[in-house]
Amino acid sequence: MVSELQGIGMTSRRTRMRLVQRLREAGIKNEDVLSALAETPRHIFLDEALSHRAYEDTALPIGYQQTLSQPYIVARMTEVLMAHSPSRVLELGTGSGYQTAILAQLVEEVFSVERIKPLQDRARERLRTLKLRNTLLRHADGGMGWPDKGPFDGIIVTAAPAKVPEDLLPQLADGGVMVIPLGEHTQMLTQIIRRGDNYDMTDIEPVRFVPLLGGVVR
Ligand code: SAH
Repeated sequence: MVSELQGIGMTSRRTRMRLVQRLREAGIKNEDVLSALAETPRHIFLDEALSHRAYEDTALPIGYQQTLSQPYIVARMTEVLMAHSPSRVLELGTGSGYQTAILAQLVEEVFSVERIKPLQDRARERLRTLKLRNTLLRHADGGMGWPDKGPFDGIIVTAAPAKVPEDLLPQLADGGVMVIPLGEHTQMLTQIIRRGDNYDMTDIEPVRFVPLLGGVVR
């Protein structure tokens, strides 16, 4: 007889595969990215009251007026990043830690900055539970990036500034890629590739993110 816990595990794996199928239909092609999403239990990144909605393709609240991004957007941003095979990645906006967990399965090291301490604490706990040890978290205003640890082959920003924070650009390695939502009311997910002192910007698609804010919350 299947134990109750195994039963739940199997249900969630089946639901995850359905989500992956939807992402495939929505145009996500990178198989490594799809399997990272298939392997990662999104429900542990949510409060219990919302965990039954974890495998819907929708953004969900995580408290402090912040949201866990929609799986499609997580997959899309990761796919854009992975097209350049980065090994050291900087994430701004750890939030729940879900995007961090996906990246940690695909690249060598993930450095992630979050300005709200209680969110960071919970994210750290979840990453520990999943034994994703190649992640380093920092409580700070990520608008300045993480200069001591740069340059990074990849930078992913999961909150939207009006324009690219100036301090971030020099932290992108030559040939590196940044994925960032830009704009206030309407936002465009943008890819920035560094070639020497040139930064080539390409629009990806319109998105809706919470704003990148200054300062920290303890
Ligand atoms: N990647 C997250 C998305 C969280 S929403 C996830 O998968 O759950 C965006 C996050 O960015 C929020 O947690 C917010 O607190 C954080 N954030 C906003 N401005 C920031 C800043 N300047 N520095 C660091 N984190 C910031």
